[in-house]
Amino acid sequence: MNLLALPAFADNYLWLLHDAHEAVVVDPGQAEPVLQALQERGLRLQAILVTHHHGDHVGGVETLRQATGATVYGPAREAIPAPFVPLAQGQTVQALGYSFTVLDVPGHTAGHIAYFCAQAEGGPLLFCGDTLFSGGCGRLFEGTAAQMQASLDQLAALPDDTRVCCAHEYTLANLKFARAVEPGNGELLHYSAQCETLRAQGLPTLPSRMTLERAINPFLRTRVPTVAAAAAGFAPSTDTRDAAAVLAALREWKNGFR
Ligand code: ZN
Ligand code: FE
Repeated sequence: MNLLALPAFADNYLWLLHDAHEAVVVDPGQAEPVLQALQERGLRLQAILVTHHHGDHVGGVETLRQATGATVYGPAREAIPAPFVPLAQGQTVQALGYSFTVLDVPGHTAGHIAYFCAQAEGGPLLFCGDTLFSGGCGRLFEGTAAQMQASLDQLAALPDDTRVCCAHEYTLANLKFARAVEPGNGELLHYSAQCETLRAQGLPTLPSRMTLERAINPFLRTRVPTVAAAAAGFAPSTDTRDAAAVLAALREWKNGFR
């Protein structure tokens, strides 16, 4: 099984998973890069998995459906290009001979879902859209900090070796913020240097690994005392024992961070 990060727009990745003949794409904001990859490799598109309704994740759905006849799957609670198979927590999608389990991860949008494939060749796979990024998390457009905290808790509980396939290459900017939160985190400094090298070569920093994200991503570390203290340094009224309050403060801080 092969996993490709097809670049689109300024910083999106359209994840294409395929075997020798069939493919699945996640969040095709554009159709062209997907059609090109399918044609180059002689692949048939089996399924389109959508995590949430934003245009940079669904813009290519209609064209791809018409060109390939692929089945579209998406969040039951969001309006994405119909017809699609509506999905919620615990339901599964069968594709490429694997089972993808749906996780409800509201916060960035109200009905955002993620797809987890436990048995994937090469280690478990998570497609998390705009919920979890390497070193960061999505903005809270439609959900609360408490919802995002619960969503990130659910993702952080996935196996150590889970490959984290995020929808954007935001890693360097996220890590700059993460270093402001935890200047003494050695693993973070080491990972930052690795990512700088990858980006200088024009390579993706993704997929990341869940074990790494737990060690370096401040939004997965809201219960770590130094992280909570840093959040309170930005927003002094923050209750440092309340993970969601810490997350809310970090999110606010990051929104204005350059
Ligand atoms: Zn989005
Ligand atoms: Fe996005």
